[in-house]
Amino acid sequence: MSNNNYFSGLFSGIKSLLVGLGVTMKEFFTRKITEQYPENRKELKMFDRFRGRLVMPHNENNEHKCIGCGLCQMACPNGSITVTTEMLDTEDGKKKRSLVKYEYDLGCCMFCELCITACPQGAIEFCTDFENAVFDRSKLVQQLNKPGSKAVEKKPVPKPAAPAAKPAAPAAQPAPKATEVAAPAEKKESNPETPTTV
Ligand code: SF4
Ligand code: SF4
Repeated sequence: MSNNNYFSGLFSGIKSLLVGLGVTMKEFFTRKITEQYPENRKELKMFDRFRGRLVMPHNENNEHKCIGCGLCQMACPNGSITVTTEMLDTEDGKKKRSLVKYEYDLGCCMFCELCITACPQGAIEFCTDFENAVFDRSKLVQQLNKPGSKAVEKKPVPKPAAPAAKPAAPAAQPAPKATEVAAPAEKKESNPETPTTV
């Protein structure tokens, strides 16, 4: 091996080593994105878009928005939702469907969100809980409506006021009287039989 080849190989190796060390040092000072779970369990916050499990939010009066229509159950492709309802008589003598039990099987849910998309009331959503492991599969079947809860009563919407009457159209201009109409000048026709004076 000539001296030239020896030194070119040596410098090439050193250059390669420095490039590798540069990448290592850059990553050493870059902000880490690896989560140290479960050590950081208390401060760990999932992204809002994360689909942990289905929940039915209730307000402070233990009311939810579900009207028991069953559209989510029909939209679910693998039967993870079972909606049980009953018909109640209202004060005005009508029948009204009411939710009795909303069962959700987390064990067979595939988090497709079709149920949430189908719900016309926005009554269900995904929460970001992710520690859902249990030792008994039956515990994965959850009742989402809380005991004693009921649907939010909708306040009657007042009917919109009738639109104001349109302003009366301007009165038509009175037709000119016959006497006011200027009579066209009578056209004097020359009588062909009348002799003309020269
Ligand atoms: S996310 Fe999909 S699979 Fe899960 S309950 Fe809703 S529709 Fe069913
Ligand atoms: S969650 Fe929504 S779609 Fe499902 S039964 Fe209740 S109102 Fe209907």
